[in-house]
Formats: sequence, C-alpha cells, structure tokens
Amino acid sequence: MSEVKAYAAHKADQPLGPFKLDRREPGADDVEIKILYSGVCHSDIHTARNEWGGTMYPVVPGHEIVGKVTRVGSSVSKFKVGDTVGVGCFVDSCGHCNNCKDHQEQYCENGHTQTYNSYSQDRKTISYGGYSSHIVVTQGFVLSVSDKLPLANVAPLLCAGITTYSPLKHWGVKKGHKVAVVGLGGLGHMAVKIASSMGAEVTMLSRSPEKEKDATALGAHHFALTTEKANMKALANTFDFIIDTVSAQHDYNEYLALLRTNGVMVLLGVPPTPSEVSAVNLIFGRRSLVGSLVGGIKETQEMLDYCAEHNISADIELIKMDQINEAFERTLTGDVHYRFVIDMESI
Ligand code: NAP
Ligand code: ZN
Repeated sequence: MSEVKAYAAHKADQPLGPFKLDRREPGADDVEIKILYSGVCHSDIHTARNEWGGTMYPVVPGHEIVGKVTRVGSSVSKFKVGDTVGVGCFVDSCGHCNNCKDHQEQYCENGHTQTYNSYSQDRKTISYGGYSSHIVVTQGFVLSVSDKLPLANVAPLLCAGITTYSPLKHWGVKKGHKVAVVGLGGLGHMAVKIASSMGAEVTMLSRSPEKEKDATALGAHHFALTTEKANMKALANTFDFIIDTVSAQHDYNEYLALLRTNGVMVLLGVPPTPSEVSAVNLIFGRRSLVGSLVGGIKETQEMLDYCAEHNISADIELIKMDQINEAFERTLTGDVHYRFVIDMESI
C-alpha cells in the first residue's frame, strides 16, 4: 500500500478538502499512474453532494483522468513506464457476463466498478477517483492516449467525450441527420463537436443566450433559446436525434415534440428527481426516449483515436486543486467554458 494525496468530500454539505488515501501496490495485472490532469464532471458534484443517494463518505471524485505510467505489474503487456494513459468512468467489471464479453463493460450484468464511490470486484474495497496524485488500475481498463493533443484538453474525453460519442455512433448519426444538443456544458460541448464532425446538422438548444457565439464556434449550425416558447414551437417535428445533457429536472415532453417521426431522444443527463412523460408524445410520431451510459473500453479507445485523428478535444479552464469548490459552484450556475480540469501537480 502506498499513501497518496487526494481531495475528498466528507459530507454532502461540506466543501472538499485534502485527504490521504491508500492505493494498493500494483498486482501482476495492474498499472500505476501518476495523474497529470483530472476533469470535473457534473457527476462529481451530484455524488459529492449525495444528490443521487448512496454516496459513501469520504468520497474522492474524478473520472476523467490522464496521466503517465509509473509502475506496471509482471503480467502487464499493453503498457510500460512513461506511457501516456487515460482512465474513465469505470475501472473493473466481472469480465464474463454477456455484456462484458461484448465489450459493453459499462452494462456489466454483475455490476461494474465505477472509478469512485463504488465497490471493487471483491465487493469490499471502495474505489477512489482522480482527484488524487496516483491511481492503480487493472490493465484492461487503462486507455492509450496519443500525445498529439494537449493532455489537459484530452482528460474530459474520458467521460464527456465517450458519453456523447457512444450514442452518436450507436444510432448511426451521419450527414443528412438533424441533431439537437440540449444544454451547453461539459457533455453538451463535446456532443456539438463530435456530432458536427460526423457530418450532422447540429442545433444547440440552451437556456443561456450568452452561449450562442460559443455554440457556433464549437460547430453548431443553429442556436435556439429554450426559454422562448415561440422557438420551441417553430422547431416542432424537426430533429432525427436529440442529445439531452441537462443535469437538472426539466420537461422532457417539450423536447419530444421536436422529434420527427421515428426520432430518438437520448437522455445523458441524470437529474436527481424523476420526470413525467406523456405517452401521447411518444405514440404520435413513433418517437423513442432512450438513455445511454458512457461507453465500453474498446469504444473509448476508438473515440480517443477518432478525436486524435479529427483534432477534437475539450475547451477547458485549468484550475488548481484548491479551486475545486469554486469550480463546483461555477458549474452549478452554468459558468463553465466548457470543462474545468484540475492540474494535479497542484495537489
Ligand atoms: P454541466 O457541464 O453542468 O452542463 C449541464 C448543462 O445543462 C448546463 O451547462 C446548462 O446548459 C444545462 N442546465 C443545467 N441546469 C439546468 C436547468 N436547471 N435547466 C435547464 N438547463 C440546465 O454538466 P455535465 O458535466 O455536462 O453533465 C451533465 C449531466 O450528465 C449530469 O447530470 C451528469 O451527471 C450526467 N452525466 C451522464 C453520463 C452518462 O453516462 N449518461 C456521463 C457523464 C455525465 P445551458 O446553459 O446551455 O442551458
Ligand atoms: Zn462524468
């Protein structure tokens, strides 16, 4: 065991602060990583504040990790000391259920191990995330990261990137499709970049008028303010796909009405409270309302390679570890452009 520096939340209503954490000695299949950058996802806030329930305190958030390999176990063949690597939202899974065998570890039927606030496969040890100086992860859940793009900007791809890439790929978004992205935050800005890179005509649906210029710069072809009812009415029956990244409760019915016949609305945002959906909005137009959880390891590697090839990374604001509480507050007010990333040297 080695003791590493971390930042933890000890209670739902308390700010995060310094914490010491024991990481396991790398086993035969393990990779030890010195963390360089850690992105700040809204899920970190939901969890630190116990908004979904089930937070095990102290919790060390962080699942958008980029770093360098410092040690490898005797059976590790994929990585060597000094390699640039990434770790995303989960660090282990059963490995033998149908979904794991199908490279869909995020849907492991026996319960995958999330990067933080989750039980390891021994069902005893609790996982701690990327707001820490080092992490030890079994090699099958470590990603190769190209040095082509700035690494701080690559970190958010490990969650915001794969979470938006996976449904766009799954539903075959391509040229000729009209895609709406709801909410211009961490996930939303990656959805705009990736959907437009796939050739789709992208409309940004936002409640924030000041984000219009940025949406265009990110690749959106159109922008509509969701607070203007006339805009929403004018967009009825328009989109093939809607990617909904909003973190707080909102009326799904308003957005379902914007789908064309056979259109698909993909929920990515996880508001803590449930919402009502009218059957009428699904039946008329044979529309689908679906959800999607991050992406499997193989697909995450594919996404990282795709982004390196297409020169896609996140727009970020680099912060020091002790600015995390301010970053949480700013994220909650929508004042994030478009992902906070922690420089882990500052821990
Ligand atoms: P974020 O950076 O805070 O962005 C969320 C955006 O939603 C905001 O920028 C804002 O955009 C909009 N929004 C926020 N509150 C709103 C409200 N009350 N009413 C209307 N719009 C609101 O968050 P994020 O990191 O992208 O995460 C978004 C959500 O996805 C979170 O719930 C997170 O837990 C979830 N998530 C899911 C997965 C998955 O696998 N499905 C993975 C990662 C994260 P505008 O100002 O443009 O309206
Ligand atoms: Zn995330």
